[in-house]
Amino acid sequence: MTDLAIVGLGSMGSATAWAATRQGLSVVGFEQFELGHERGASHDTSRILRHSYHTPHYVGLTFHAYDAWERLEADSGVHLVTRTGGVDLFPPNAAIDMSTYTSSLDAHAIPYELIDDVHARWPVFTPPEGTIGLYQERSSIVPAALGTATMQRLARERGAQLRDRTRVEAILPGPDSVTLVTSAGTYSADRVVVTADAWTAELIRPLGWDIPLTVTEEQITYVDVPTDYFDIPLWIWMDDPSFYGFPCYGEPTMKAAEDCGGPVVTGDHRSGELDAAMLDRLMGFLRSNFAGIGEPVRSKRCLYTLTADRDFVLSPVPGHERVTVGLGAAHGFKFAPAFGEMLTALALGETTDPVFALDRPGITDPNYAPAWLV
Ligand SMILES: Cc1cc2nc3c(=O)[nH]c(=O)nc-3n(C[C@H](O)[C@H](O)[C@H](O)COP(=O)(O)OP(=O)(O)OC[C@H]3O[C@@H](n4cnc5c(N)ncnc54)[C@H](O)[C@@H]3O)c2cc1C
Repeated sequence: MTDLAIVGLGSMGSATAWAATRQGLSVVGFEQFELGHERGASHDTSRILRHSYHTPHYVGLTFHAYDAWERLEADSGVHLVTRTGGVDLFPPNAAIDMSTYTSSLDAHAIPYELIDDVHARWPVFTPPEGTIGLYQERSSIVPAALGTATMQRLARERGAQLRDRTRVEAILPGPDSVTLVTSAGTYSADRVVVTADAWTAELIRPLGWDIPLTVTEEQITYVDVPTDYFDIPLWIWMDDPSFYGFPCYGEPTMKAAEDCGGPVVTGDHRSGELDAAMLDRLMGFLRSNFAGIGEPVRSKRCLYTLTADRDFVLSPVPGHERVTVGLGAAHGFKFAPAFGEMLTALALGETTDPVFALDRPGITDPNYAPAWLV
């Protein structure tokens, strides 16, 4: 019998296959589309890896994230982490409280710098007077599609069977194993990890757990910029609406986007087309707060899958402990290699972190007010 079956081979599922095979487990993974497709949440060029977070709990977890990327780089021989530094920008009366970030970094003695004249430091930034920059030098870019494909390659080299274009239709836990009914036959495994992001709720509901998830269709845009943008740090605008962006990464464009700005959709029903209103909002923001902004070059859509508290799900399904769920709540890529290690450990019976458990108010309380601005 296969030790571990994985449902969904985006970054989380591929990371679990990588981590589990490194521990000598036999693995079979299922992906409904082709590997590397662009209909989920793990495609395109880049994602942000950072220490700066809004709680000490998350900041603590970022150490595991950095270490796991280092393990993946060592294991693959591929350069994956590009350090650029990162600046969180807090305009006057920002909707996000800077002290939640400074106190969380202080709790782990992580150095940072508060910059009260961001324009003087990086002349292309032209934010309103009084904007404070929280600069952390270890913030980095990690490659989304390349990182995911690297974990798939290593898992396969260690014997994992990764089956794409194979949709899991049902998960049937039994006393000694779990049966998966797929579009290409039925399989059994000792344990199952579900990393299906936007499609998670429909897969878990038959197990008696209704996970209230909101799926939105986000949009990132590459904008033509002068070469000064090669030397800027990653940036996050800590207000409502919130935006974020990357220095030039392999091309003379700045990638930028709004956080949680997209329409509510489902995994199977979304447009995939350019959203002109989202583009206007983004370009308006960029032209107000940056110098030398040119025309948009291209845009891409991508899915966010949000829990109400925007905390991850890293948890066995209560009552069905052979089935473990992993969900990144639209900020999980930086943790992907670490999640692979954590989900493998959870599947093997390790204790669940209550912050990420399924039976928590952010999941079980129908009146829980969504809190996505972090
Ligand atoms: C625009 C954007 C920007 C982001 N920026 C950042 C960032 O800077 N830093 C960061 O840390 N995170 C970021 N994120 C979040 C991060 O990308 C996601 O949390 C992460 O990629 C989720 O990975 P996943 O493997 O869970 O999801 P996915 O990549 O969506 O994988 C789920 C897979 O499951 C498959 N699947 C679903 N149902 C089935 C089934 N029944 N049978 C078989 N296969 C199935 C799907 O086809 C899919 O391939 C961003 C996300 C977006 C959209």
